[in-house]
Amino acid sequence: MLKAIIFGAPGAGKGTYASRLQTKLGVDVISMGDIFRELVKEKSELSSKVKSYMEKGALVPDDVVVEVLKAHLAKISKGKGFILDGFPRTLEQAKKLDTITKIDVIMQLIVPDWIIIERLSTRRICKNCGTVYNVKFLKPKVEGVCDKCEGPLYQRSDDNPETIKNRLKVYQEQTSPLIAFYKEKKVPFIELETKTLDQPPDLMVEKLLAELKKRNLA
Ligand code: AMP
Repeated sequence: MLKAIIFGAPGAGKGTYASRLQTKLGVDVISMGDIFRELVKEKSELSSKVKSYMEKGALVPDDVVVEVLKAHLAKISKGKGFILDGFPRTLEQAKKLDTITKIDVIMQLIVPDWIIIERLSTRRICKNCGTVYNVKFLKPKVEGVCDKCEGPLYQRSDDNPETIKNRLKVYQEQTSPLIAFYKEKKVPFIELETKTLDQPPDLMVEKLLAELKKRNLA
């Protein structure tokens, strides 16, 4: 039963690879970003608080995030594995996670900033099923329409140049120190490097699967 974290900067491909691995491995994916995007559609005190952080590209406070994570982990059927996408993002979150569950492996996506900036500013997402596209490098068959469910594609409001810059800064300052945290704890890493803009996701997923198999985790 796989218990994994997919780790990397915004736009590194966490969501894209995690959703493909979900299908191939039959595991659950907990995507904190997706959970918060659903939450902010509601009208509540909590949702307006979360929205104000997301709009700036800032992190939602740890206590809120950890409670949401716990609730979602509790919903996973017994015996089913999971991949955490977008959690943990701070040392505090990582320490809390440690008290909740063991982690078998970290899949670390290494992507240079110039690729991230280019990717995020051209990213589109299906409003219905969340599949990720890119108007330059991962085009849908019909412009603006999802290949899988024919839903409309949209651009995330935080995928704008100013917010992207802040999200990358937040990643560098608050999230990247987690690499040292997990290395010190001797959690195994699978490192996957992207060097070109047009790297096909399927190839990257195959590489991840091969590495997971080597470790008897797939
Ligand atoms: P993502 O879709 O993973 O890029 O997340 C979108 C936004 O949701 C982030 O910019 C944060 O505002 C918020 N968010 C997602 N995951 C976390 C987390 N683990 N801790 C704090 N904020 C988060």
